[in-house]
Amino acid sequence: MRIVVSGGAGFLGSHLCERFLNEGHEVICIDNLLTGDRNNVAPFLKSSKFQFLELDVSKQVLLDGPIDSILHFASPASPVDYARLPIPTLKVGALGTHNMLGLAKAHRAKFLLASTSEVYGDPLVSPQKESYWGNVNPIGPRGVYDEAKRFAEAITMAYHREHNLDTRIVRIFNTYGPRMKLSDGRLIPNMLVQHIRGELLTIYGDGKQTRSFCYVDDLVEGIVRLMKSDHSDPMNIGNPEERTILDFIRVLEEIVGKKMPVAYKPLPTDDPKVRCPDIAKARTLLGWEPRVPLKDGLQRTFEDFRSRIH
Ligand code: UDP
Repeated sequence: MRIVVSGGAGFLGSHLCERFLNEGHEVICIDNLLTGDRNNVAPFLKSSKFQFLELDVSKQVLLDGPIDSILHFASPASPVDYARLPIPTLKVGALGTHNMLGLAKAHRAKFLLASTSEVYGDPLVSPQKESYWGNVNPIGPRGVYDEAKRFAEAITMAYHREHNLDTRIVRIFNTYGPRMKLSDGRLIPNMLVQHIRGELLTIYGDGKQTRSFCYVDDLVEGIVRLMKSDHSDPMNIGNPEERTILDFIRVLEEIVGKKMPVAYKPLPTDDPKVRCPDIAKARTLLGWEPRVPLKDGLQRTFEDFRSRIH
Protein backbone atom coordinates (compact mmCIF):
# COMPACT_ATOMS: atom_id res chain seq x y z
CA MET A 1 0.00 0.00 0.00
CA ARG A 2 0.98 3.65 -0.45
CA ILE A 3 0.21 5.52 2.77
CA VAL A 4 0.31 9.25 3.56
CA VAL A 5 0.96 10.33 7.15
CA SER A 6 0.48 14.04 7.81
CA GLY A 7 2.41 15.11 10.90
CA GLY A 8 4.63 12.12 10.16
CA ALA A 9 7.71 13.73 11.74
CA GLY A 10 5.92 14.17 15.05
CA PHE A 11 5.86 11.80 18.00
CA LEU A 12 2.90 9.61 17.02
CA GLY A 13 3.28 10.20 13.27
CA SER A 14 6.86 8.91 13.24
CA HIS A 15 5.88 5.75 15.13
CA LEU A 16 3.13 5.15 12.54
CA CYS A 17 5.56 5.70 9.65
CA GLU A 18 7.93 3.17 11.23
CA ARG A 19 5.19 0.58 11.69
CA PHE A 20 4.01 0.92 8.06
CA LEU A 21 7.57 0.72 6.71
CA ASN A 22 8.17 -2.40 8.81
CA GLU A 23 5.07 -3.91 7.24
CA GLY A 24 6.54 -3.26 3.78
CA HIS A 25 4.32 -0.35 2.76
CA GLU A 26 5.36 2.83 0.97
CA VAL A 27 5.09 5.89 3.21
CA ILE A 28 4.79 9.55 2.27
CA CYS A 29 5.41 11.64 5.37
CA ILE A 30 4.22 15.26 5.26
CA ASP A 31 5.26 17.67 8.00
CA ASN A 32 5.98 21.41 8.24
CA LEU A 33 8.22 20.74 11.27
CA LEU A 34 6.36 23.31 13.39
CA THR A 35 6.34 20.87 16.31
CA GLY A 36 7.68 17.80 14.49
CA ASP A 37 11.38 17.00 14.25
CA ARG A 38 13.36 15.82 11.23
CA ASN A 39 15.43 13.59 13.56
CA ASN A 40 12.33 11.48 14.21
CA VAL A 41 12.31 10.30 10.60
CA ALA A 42 16.03 10.60 9.76
CA PRO A 43 16.60 6.80 10.01
CA PHE A 44 13.74 6.13 7.54
CA LEU A 45 15.21 8.36 4.82
CA LYS A 46 17.56 5.60 3.67
CA SER A 47 14.57 3.46 2.73
CA SER A 48 13.47 3.81 -0.90
CA LYS A 49 9.91 3.29 0.36
CA PHE A 50 9.97 6.47 2.46
CA GLN A 51 9.47 10.00 1.21
CA PHE A 52 9.54 13.15 3.34
CA LEU A 53 7.74 16.28 2.14
CA GLU A 54 8.22 19.47 4.16
CA LEU A 55 4.79 21.02 3.59
CA ASP A 56 2.06 22.74 5.56
CA VAL A 57 -1.16 20.77 5.10
CA SER A 58 -3.17 23.88 6.03
CA LYS A 59 -2.41 24.87 2.42
CA GLN A 60 -3.51 22.74 -0.54
CA VAL A 61 -1.46 19.57 -1.08
CA LEU A 62 -1.44 17.78 -4.45
CA LEU A 63 0.18 14.37 -4.83
CA ASP A 64 0.68 12.17 -7.89
CA GLY A 65 0.17 8.45 -8.09
CA PRO A 66 -2.13 6.15 -6.18
CA ILE A 67 -2.79 6.64 -2.48
CA ASP A 68 -4.45 3.90 -0.43
CA SER A 69 -4.68 5.54 2.98
CA ILE A 70 -4.21 8.94 4.60
CA LEU A 71 -3.66 9.29 8.34
CA HIS A 72 -4.05 12.91 9.39
CA PHE A 73 -1.88 13.50 12.45
CA ALA A 74 -0.60 17.01 11.74
CA SER A 75 -1.30 19.33 14.69
CA PRO A 76 0.37 20.71 17.76
CA ALA A 77 -0.86 18.37 20.52
CA SER A 78 0.67 19.52 23.78
CA PRO A 79 -1.28 22.18 25.74
CA VAL A 80 1.95 24.21 25.92
CA ASP A 81 2.30 24.07 22.12
CA TYR A 82 -1.27 24.91 21.26
CA ALA A 83 -1.26 27.79 23.75
CA ARG A 84 1.85 29.11 21.93
CA LEU A 85 0.47 28.37 18.45
CA PRO A 86 -3.28 29.06 18.66
CA ILE A 87 -3.87 30.05 15.04
CA PRO A 88 -1.77 27.31 13.36
CA THR A 89 -3.59 24.83 15.66
CA LEU A 90 -7.01 26.06 14.52
CA LYS A 91 -5.87 26.13 10.89
CA VAL A 92 -4.44 22.62 10.79
CA GLY A 93 -7.48 21.17 12.56
CA ALA A 94 -9.89 22.95 10.23
CA LEU A 95 -8.19 23.78 6.90
CA GLY A 96 -5.63 20.98 7.20
CA THR A 97 -8.33 18.39 7.80
CA HIS A 98 -10.34 19.79 4.87
CA ASN A 99 -7.29 19.54 2.61
CA MET A 100 -6.44 15.98 3.69
CA LEU A 101 -10.07 14.93 3.18
CA GLY A 102 -9.96 16.52 -0.29
CA LEU A 103 -6.79 14.57 -1.06
CA ALA A 104 -8.44 11.36 0.17
CA LYS A 105 -11.54 12.03 -1.95
CA ALA A 106 -9.45 12.73 -5.09
CA HIS A 107 -7.57 9.43 -4.65
CA ARG A 108 -10.48 7.46 -3.16
CA ALA A 109 -8.18 6.73 -0.22
CA LYS A 110 -9.19 5.58 3.22
CA PHE A 111 -8.92 8.48 5.69
CA LEU A 112 -8.15 8.38 9.41
CA LEU A 113 -8.47 11.45 11.61
CA ALA A 114 -6.34 11.71 14.74
CA SER A 115 -8.89 13.13 17.14
CA THR A 116 -8.49 13.43 20.87
CA SER A 117 -9.92 12.94 24.33
CA GLU A 118 -9.95 16.77 24.42
CA VAL A 119 -13.24 16.64 22.47
CA TYR A 120 -14.71 15.64 25.86
CA GLY A 121 -13.24 18.82 27.44
CA ASP A 122 -13.43 18.85 31.26
CA PRO A 123 -15.77 15.86 31.35
CA LEU A 124 -18.81 15.70 33.60
CA VAL A 125 -18.96 11.91 33.25
CA SER A 126 -16.17 9.40 33.78
CA PRO A 127 -14.98 7.20 32.23
CA GLN A 128 -15.74 8.79 28.85
CA LYS A 129 -17.67 6.72 26.33
CA GLU A 130 -17.71 7.69 22.65
CA SER A 131 -21.39 8.63 23.03
CA TYR A 132 -20.55 11.46 25.48
CA TRP A 133 -20.74 14.90 23.81
CA GLY A 134 -18.30 16.62 26.10
CA ASN A 135 -17.94 19.77 28.17
CA VAL A 136 -15.68 22.15 26.22
CA ASN A 137 -15.03 25.84 26.84
CA PRO A 138 -14.90 27.16 23.25
CA ILE A 139 -13.14 30.42 24.14
CA GLY A 140 -10.64 29.18 26.74
CA PRO A 141 -6.94 28.58 25.98
CA ARG A 142 -7.60 24.91 25.15
CA GLY A 143 -10.53 25.81 22.88
CA VAL A 144 -8.20 26.30 19.90
CA TYR A 145 -7.31 22.61 19.98
CA ASP A 146 -10.56 21.16 21.30
CA GLU A 147 -12.82 23.02 18.89
CA ALA A 148 -10.50 22.46 15.92
CA LYS A 149 -10.63 18.71 16.60
CA ARG A 150 -14.41 18.82 17.10
CA PHE A 151 -14.71 20.61 13.73
CA ALA A 152 -12.33 18.01 12.26
CA GLU A 153 -14.62 15.21 13.45
CA ALA A 154 -17.67 17.02 12.02
CA ILE A 155 -16.11 17.54 8.58
CA THR A 156 -14.79 13.95 8.53
CA MET A 157 -18.31 12.63 9.15
CA ALA A 158 -19.68 15.03 6.51
CA TYR A 159 -17.24 13.66 3.90
CA HIS A 160 -18.20 10.16 4.97
CA ARG A 161 -21.92 10.85 4.56
CA GLU A 162 -21.85 13.22 1.58
CA HIS A 163 -19.00 11.72 -0.46
CA ASN A 164 -19.11 8.14 0.78
CA LEU A 165 -15.49 8.47 1.86
CA ASP A 166 -14.16 5.54 3.87
CA THR A 167 -13.26 7.29 7.12
CA ARG A 168 -12.08 6.50 10.66
CA ILE A 169 -11.88 8.71 13.73
CA VAL A 170 -9.61 7.74 16.60
CA ARG A 171 -9.99 9.65 19.87
CA ILE A 172 -6.51 9.43 21.35
CA PHE A 173 -6.08 9.66 25.12
CA ASN A 174 -2.79 10.61 26.81
CA THR A 175 -0.01 8.69 25.06
CA TYR A 176 3.71 8.62 25.84
CA GLY A 177 6.89 7.01 24.62
CA PRO A 178 10.27 7.51 22.99
CA ARG A 179 10.68 10.53 20.62
CA MET A 180 8.46 12.91 22.58
CA LYS A 181 10.11 16.32 22.45
CA LEU A 182 12.21 17.23 25.48
CA SER A 183 10.42 20.60 25.48
CA ASP A 184 7.00 19.01 24.84
CA GLY A 185 5.57 20.41 28.08
CA ARG A 186 3.28 17.50 28.88
CA LEU A 187 3.47 15.60 32.14
CA ILE A 188 5.70 12.66 31.24
CA PRO A 189 8.33 14.52 29.17
CA ASN A 190 8.41 17.31 31.77
CA MET A 191 8.98 14.95 34.67
CA LEU A 192 11.57 12.80 32.92
CA VAL A 193 13.56 15.86 31.85
CA GLN A 194 13.26 17.44 35.31
CA HIS A 195 14.42 14.24 36.99
CA ILE A 196 17.38 13.74 34.64
CA ARG A 197 18.47 17.38 35.08
CA GLY A 198 18.11 17.17 38.87
CA GLU A 199 15.29 19.72 38.96
CA LEU A 200 12.10 19.71 41.04
CA LEU A 201 9.15 17.87 39.46
CA THR A 202 6.40 20.40 38.72
CA ILE A 203 2.93 19.44 39.94
CA TYR A 204 0.17 21.68 38.61
CA GLY A 205 -2.65 22.25 41.10
CA ASP A 206 -2.93 19.74 43.95
CA GLY A 207 -1.93 16.76 41.75
CA LYS A 208 -5.24 15.02 42.42
CA GLN A 209 -6.47 15.42 38.84
CA THR A 210 -6.43 12.13 36.92
CA ARG A 211 -5.10 10.93 33.59
CA SER A 212 -4.50 7.49 32.07
CA PHE A 213 -1.33 6.86 30.11
CA CYS A 214 -1.05 4.66 27.03
CA TYR A 215 2.31 3.47 25.70
CA VAL A 216 2.85 4.45 22.06
CA ASP A 217 3.17 0.86 20.72
CA ASP A 218 -0.25 0.00 22.16
CA LEU A 219 -1.75 3.09 20.57
CA VAL A 220 -0.23 2.30 17.16
CA GLU A 221 -1.62 -1.25 17.33
CA GLY A 222 -5.08 0.15 18.11
CA ILE A 223 -4.89 2.54 15.17
CA VAL A 224 -3.76 -0.17 12.76
CA ARG A 225 -6.69 -2.35 13.86
CA LEU A 226 -9.13 0.55 13.51
CA MET A 227 -7.85 1.22 9.96
CA LYS A 228 -8.43 -2.44 9.05
CA SER A 229 -11.92 -2.46 10.57
CA ASP A 230 -15.00 -0.92 9.01
CA HIS A 231 -16.00 1.34 11.92
CA SER A 232 -16.47 4.94 10.86
CA ASP A 233 -17.81 6.21 14.17
CA PRO A 234 -15.29 7.64 16.65
CA MET A 235 -13.31 5.11 18.67
CA ASN A 236 -11.51 5.76 21.97
CA ILE A 237 -7.99 4.38 22.08
CA GLY A 238 -6.20 4.80 25.38
CA ASN A 239 -5.27 3.06 28.56
CA PRO A 240 -8.16 2.80 31.05
CA GLU A 241 -5.86 2.63 34.09
CA GLU A 242 -6.69 5.96 35.69
CA ARG A 243 -4.34 7.57 38.21
CA THR A 244 -3.75 10.91 39.86
CA ILE A 245 -0.63 12.90 39.07
CA LEU A 246 0.57 12.11 42.62
CA ASP A 247 0.11 8.36 41.96
CA PHE A 248 2.00 8.74 38.72
CA ILE A 249 4.97 10.26 40.58
CA ARG A 250 4.97 7.22 42.90
CA VAL A 251 5.39 4.92 39.86
CA LEU A 252 8.23 7.09 38.60
CA GLU A 253 9.86 6.91 42.04
CA GLU A 254 9.73 3.11 41.94
CA ILE A 255 11.57 3.17 38.62
CA VAL A 256 14.33 5.55 39.66
CA GLY A 257 14.48 4.03 43.13
CA LYS A 258 14.27 7.23 45.12
CA LYS A 259 11.87 9.87 46.34
CA MET A 260 11.71 12.88 44.09
CA PRO A 261 11.45 16.49 45.22
CA VAL A 262 8.46 18.39 43.83
CA ALA A 263 7.30 21.99 43.35
CA TYR A 264 3.64 22.95 43.18
CA LYS A 265 2.55 25.35 40.42
CA PRO A 266 -0.88 26.81 39.61
CA LEU A 267 -3.29 24.61 37.65
CA PRO A 268 -3.58 25.83 34.03
CA THR A 269 -6.99 27.23 32.97
CA ASP A 270 -9.56 24.57 32.01
CA ASP A 271 -7.20 21.70 32.91
CA PRO A 272 -9.55 18.66 32.95
CA LYS A 273 -10.07 17.27 36.48
CA VAL A 274 -10.52 13.70 35.31
CA ARG A 275 -9.80 11.76 32.15
CA CYS A 276 -10.23 8.05 31.54
CA PRO A 277 -11.31 6.25 28.39
CA ASP A 278 -14.10 3.72 28.29
CA ILE A 279 -12.56 1.26 25.81
CA ALA A 280 -15.42 -1.25 25.67
CA LYS A 281 -15.95 -0.42 21.99
CA ALA A 282 -12.31 -1.01 21.03
CA ARG A 283 -12.26 -4.22 23.10
CA THR A 284 -15.39 -5.58 21.45
CA LEU A 285 -15.02 -4.34 17.89
CA LEU A 286 -11.24 -4.43 17.46
CA GLY A 287 -10.26 -7.05 20.04
CA TRP A 288 -7.80 -4.42 21.27
CA GLU A 289 -6.60 -3.46 24.69
CA PRO A 290 -3.33 -2.01 25.97
CA ARG A 291 -0.63 -4.52 26.87
CA VAL A 292 2.35 -2.47 28.10
CA PRO A 293 2.28 -1.73 31.85
CA LEU A 294 3.07 1.88 32.83
CA LYS A 295 6.27 0.84 34.58
CA ASP A 296 7.66 -0.90 31.48
CA GLY A 297 6.64 1.87 29.10
CA LEU A 298 8.07 4.53 31.41
CA GLN A 299 11.34 2.63 31.70
CA ARG A 300 11.72 2.54 27.89
CA THR A 301 10.79 6.22 27.62
CA PHE A 302 13.19 7.13 30.41
CA GLU A 303 16.06 5.40 28.56
CA ASP A 304 15.22 7.28 25.35
CA PHE A 305 15.16 10.61 27.22
CA ARG A 306 18.42 9.83 29.01
CA SER A 307 20.10 9.12 25.66
CA ARG A 308 19.05 12.54 24.38
CA ILE A 309 20.08 14.65 27.39
CA HIS A 310 23.80 15.29 27.81
N1 UDP B 1 0.94 18.41 34.73
C1 UDP B 1 1.69 18.58 35.89
N2 UDP B 1 3.00 18.93 35.77
C2 UDP B 1 3.61 19.12 34.58
C3 UDP B 1 2.86 18.94 33.39
C4 UDP B 1 1.52 18.59 33.52
O1 UDP B 1 1.18 18.41 37.01
O2 UDP B 1 4.82 19.43 34.56
C5 UDP B 1 -0.46 18.00 34.84
C6 UDP B 1 -1.44 18.86 34.04
O3 UDP B 1 -1.89 19.97 34.80
C7 UDP B 1 -2.54 17.88 33.76
C8 UDP B 1 -1.82 16.54 33.66
O4 UDP B 1 -0.57 16.71 34.29
O5 UDP B 1 -3.49 17.83 34.79
C9 UDP B 1 -1.58 16.10 32.22
O6 UDP B 1 -1.11 17.22 31.53
P1 UDP B 1 -0.51 17.15 30.07
O7 UDP B 1 0.07 18.50 29.78
O8 UDP B 1 0.38 15.96 29.98
O9 UDP B 1 -1.71 16.90 29.07
P2 UDP B 1 -3.29 16.98 29.16
O10 UDP B 1 -3.70 15.64 29.63
O11 UDP B 1 -3.70 18.05 30.14
O12 UDP B 1 -3.70 17.29 27.78
